[in-house]
Amino acid sequence: MVPPGTGGGTPGVPCRCSTAPIRCVGAPATDPTRRDRYDVRTMSDTTPDPRPQPSEGPPRDRLGRRPRDLRISVTDRCNFRCTYCMPAEVFGRDYAFLPRSQILTYEEIVRLAAIFVRLGVEKLRITGGEPTVRRDLPDLVRPLAAIEGVRDLTLTTNGSTLRRLAAPLAGAGLRRITVSLDSLDDALFRAMSGADMPVARVLDGIAAAREAGLAPVKINMVVKRGSNEASIVPMARWARDAGFILRFIEYMDVGTANGWRMDDVVPRAEIVALVDAAFPLEALPPNYPGEVATRFRYRDGAGEIGVIASVTAPFCGACTRARLSAEGELFTCLFAARGTDLRAPLRAGADDAELEARIRAVWGARDDRYSDLRSAGTANLPRVEMFAIGG
Ligand code: SAM
Repeated sequence: MVPPGTGGGTPGVPCRCSTAPIRCVGAPATDPTRRDRYDVRTMSDTTPDPRPQPSEGPPRDRLGRRPRDLRISVTDRCNFRCTYCMPAEVFGRDYAFLPRSQILTYEEIVRLAAIFVRLGVEKLRITGGEPTVRRDLPDLVRPLAAIEGVRDLTLTTNGSTLRRLAAPLAGAGLRRITVSLDSLDDALFRAMSGADMPVARVLDGIAAAREAGLAPVKINMVVKRGSNEASIVPMARWARDAGFILRFIEYMDVGTANGWRMDDVVPRAEIVALVDAAFPLEALPPNYPGEVATRFRYRDGAGEIGVIASVTAPFCGACTRARLSAEGELFTCLFAARGTDLRAPLRAGADDAELEARIRAVWGARDDRYSDLRSAGTANLPRVEMFAIGG
């Protein structure tokens, strides 16, 4: 039986608005590796926001949402080639990643992060690409942890470098960590991650994170139809036994390089039913309003799981996330095609008040709700790649 709270929608038919008025002001991207810029905002963007924006305190976007969560991508590079994110056939040896000069320095990131915190952001997540391939990451963590008002500082990583880095990261002030892992099966792990290493190395990295005192350790598992459904229950068993919080992620149509198809999505209801059949579950209330994962606890008290169902149960209405790309662009939606450049004013000498005004203006104009509008009409629109702006 499917536990309460898993939604009763028809799997594979998430769309409630197939006639969404989507406007594209550029030609469709034919080469997903091109860094094209298209406008995929809704038609309502043409209407000025009637509400006055405060010049102090948290800004509100057009749907009344405040910024609370900043995801900071520190690099567009990754040592994995996950098939659903950076497929090796697209992101091969010749792919032109950002040159160092175009990537924000740690000083620039910290300055922008502090402005976001003044605007109400409480949670910072360091991500990428693979954030731990950037040199001296603890040197970024230290000043971010010291920003007054940061209540939560975390990192999303593929875990491959944690044996070396977990302790220095914890020592620098990192509090918790999320490790991405899609299967415990070595062959399947290698196939899905494109990583030239055994899954044992990631498992050892996870152990190192725990030894370093990073807590809780969360595990992100992307579930893709025909790839790793058979790993759902083994992953649940492993995480339960070890005391990690496992979060299943529905395979999303981020970017345009992964060839996403609705048929490849394993809906939340199916994932939960599989785990429930092995280890009975009951729904939990959210930890806080707007939490992206729907939570369930094991009835025998052996911990909890979460499901991030951005496809079958979109949560745009509660989205309080902003994203800073490695090159300093501000994105207000994971599914956007373009961001707003903060690096240029930063490097041109803008003071904090000018940067804050720019961020306020972008947030105030925001009305993104891509996942709510996902439909045949949005399918071919260009979208930034996830590794560029961070998961
Ligand atoms: N390299 C780091 C990692 O592996 O966690 C951080 C960046 S990665 C883009 C962040 C998260 O996004 C990972 O958990 C990854 O599995 C997830 N992800 C990437 N592409 C996805 C997709 N198409 N659908 C769902 N999740 C995706």
